[in-house]
Amino acid sequence: MAKVESFSLNHDQVKAPYVRVAGSEEGNLGDSISKFDIRLVQPNIEAIPTSALHTLEHLLAAYIRDYLDHVIDISPMGCRTGFYLIIWGKPTAEEVAVAMTKVLRKVVESEWEDVQGTKRKECGNYRDHSLFAAKEYAKIVLEHGFSKDAFERQVVSI
Ligand SMILES: [Zn+2]
Repeated sequence: MAKVESFSLNHDQVKAPYVRVAGSEEGNLGDSISKFDIRLVQPNIEAIPTSALHTLEHLLAAYIRDYLDHVIDISPMGCRTGFYLIIWGKPTAEEVAVAMTKVLRKVVESEWEDVQGTKRKECGNYRDHSLFAAKEYAKIVLEHGFSKDAFERQVVSI
């Protein structure tokens, strides 16, 4: 069976919030793609409620592209403690942590009109959104700050 990188991470030893390079791959034409583990809350201690995580997903999908080029996807983790970012190239954890800090600051200032794709036709569970909770979790993450190291607090300053 294939070995999955994120399952070999010791989730008891990480210190959220952090940004971690979860892997990078080279394609046949020489392009590289990187995957980042963007951990917002402490694994097995906290979990973000689905309504908050869902609204964060909708906001992050738009905002992250304002601060990082070549984003392919940013999607919530099933454990509800963070997001995975897939991106062309090899940005550093610090660059992604700085971008995420700016993105969460924008989340905190967002109004409902800023959340894209919340109509029934546009979303798979349009009733399950909470901008209020999304903003509260963004504030908590910003209070702690993103570390560029998963195991040792090295909070990026911007
Ligand atoms: Zn949705």
